[in-house]
Amino acid sequence: MIKLHDLEFEPYISEEEINVAIDKVAQKLNEDYLDANPIFLGVLNGSFMFASEVIKRFSGDCEVSFVKLGSYEGTQTTGTVKTLLGLNQSLKGRKVILLEDIVDTGNTLEEINKILLKEEVANYEVATLFYKPEAYKKEFNIKYRGMEIPNKFIVGYGLDYDGLGRNLTQVYKLK
Ligand code: 5GP
Ligand code: MG
Repeated sequence: MIKLHDLEFEPYISEEEINVAIDKVAQKLNEDYLDANPIFLGVLNGSFMFASEVIKRFSGDCEVSFVKLGSYEGTQTTGTVKTLLGLNQSLKGRKVILLEDIVDTGNTLEEINKILLKEEVANYEVATLFYKPEAYKKEFNIKYRGMEIPNKFIVGYGLDYDGLGRNLTQVYKLK
């Protein structure tokens, strides 16, 4: 058990299970994009660990970029997504793979959809480490999913509770 700020968390998903999920996503990305010179677009802050691990497993040429968005306060989504750091390069005509730590309501994805529509990308897919099917309310298909989880608040492996817990190498759930 661990304590972050005022809340207690218990172990939920092991490092081994996370690695299996990442291997699975990376294998599909290698099959689909090996000669496509894609741009991996990570969503900060939460996706930094997943982005790093997935990109290390990609064998073809690729580029890496990041945007920063935020919607959570504490353990709740606020429903409003803010763009905190935008794109600093053109994605026009490129094949983009968005890398997310977790897809919950899909509000963040919707906001990024708007950004990418303006960019006139050639093709755009989402790869997420975790996915909460019970919480997802949008139409956009999430093609690459590491692991589906129930609608619970988790921390670790890049995911935080009010800034803490991102460095944990396994995933914990609220006790
Ligand atoms: P959405 O916009 O899909 O509701 O939420 C996406 C973002 O909310 C994620 O990228 C992540 O930053 C945050 N988030 C969603 N679910 C969780 C969770 O269970 N734990 C943590 N720490 N963050 C979450
Ligand atoms: Mg995120």
